[in-house]
Amino acid sequence: MVSNVSILEEKINIHTNYDITLLSPIKCGGKVKYITFPSTLDEVIESIKFSKQNDLKLFILGGLTNTLVLDSGLDGLAISTKNLKGITVKDDVISAKCGESLSHVIQSAINNNLSGLEQLSGIPGTIGGALKGNAGSYNKAISDIFYSAEIVLPDLSIKKIYNSDDLFSYRASNLPKDSFIYSVSLRLNKVDDNKPLIKQREEYILKRKEVGQYDKPSLGCVFKNPTPLSAGLLIDKCGLKGLSYNGAVVSESHANFITVEKNTTANSYLTLANKVREEVFKRFGITLDYEINIMGQN
Ligand SMILES: Cc1cc2nc3c(=O)[nH]c(=O)nc-3n(C[C@H](O)[C@H](O)[C@H](O)COP(=O)(O)OP(=O)(O)OC[C@H]3O[C@@H](n4cnc5c(N)ncnc54)[C@H](O)[C@@H]3O)c2cc1C
Repeated sequence: MVSNVSILEEKINIHTNYDITLLSPIKCGGKVKYITFPSTLDEVIESIKFSKQNDLKLFILGGLTNTLVLDSGLDGLAISTKNLKGITVKDDVISAKCGESLSHVIQSAINNNLSGLEQLSGIPGTIGGALKGNAGSYNKAISDIFYSAEIVLPDLSIKKIYNSDDLFSYRASNLPKDSFIYSVSLRLNKVDDNKPLIKQREEYILKRKEVGQYDKPSLGCVFKNPTPLSAGLLIDKCGLKGLSYNGAVVSESHANFITVEKNTTANSYLTLANKVREEVFKRFGITLDYEINIMGQN
């Protein structure tokens, strides 16, 4: 259902009781009470304003490729970034609105002879989600190339932030609490010939395909690596590959992935993930931290 709610001078479409499975790549999750799909900065601000005026908890949804929304749904207002698109390139800096897919940003960088993002090829999701979680692979993370971001703070002010020593850690960012990332700028290296970049991009994607990362829907790594150890290796050593619960399965090809069969629920995914956590703790005394974001009440 869509309702036009007039808020100050702006109008934003607010959908009610929206089914999250329509947005989730693993087709799991309950309903969100209110959701907006802004396509401009003004609409983002109006959405946040609406949540504040109505005392609603705010949820920000990128591609949901690293987020499990529980079956009870979200009691509040979600902002989906899927319509916040646009990429610009100026010299060695590429800037993208938060809803652009990371893959599109990488492709655009390569088209503009900019190197530095190749290792991240094949990571699904948006550039906003990638910044928030400091996504990375093959010894490269967003933090290595981050230049600046435009963010909207909970008091509705807009702030530009630049890279600093304490802004990122492993698979995490330390952005101001509850801030909305509107756009992200990355500083890359200008190269004369982009053919090697095209080749590297293809190779990184192929490596992921070869290990079956895209064969079944998943949210990628469930747990962070307890550095210097590997979460996947610990799970594997517990003999948990193939363990399943109501259609959620510990992947045979990568023990730190949980794949989902059709009609699996988010709560089944979480039950299995908690079981894995318990087993690893029992065997090694190590508590694995979630890499996935869990939204909603269990
Ligand atoms: C097959 C597969 C492989 C993967 N491989 C990797 C990998 O190699 N490395 C890696 O790091 N990850 C990997 N992932 C996980 C995931 O793709 C990344 O973490 C991705 O960056 C998440 O982006 P998203 O847009 O889907 O974020 P979401 O899951 O939608 O959101 C993640 C978090 O960011 C917040 N957020 C999203 N957008 C904004 C915004 N605009 N402003 C403020 N907060 C925001 C959300 O509220 C949430 O807390 C993989 C996932 C899959 C399915």
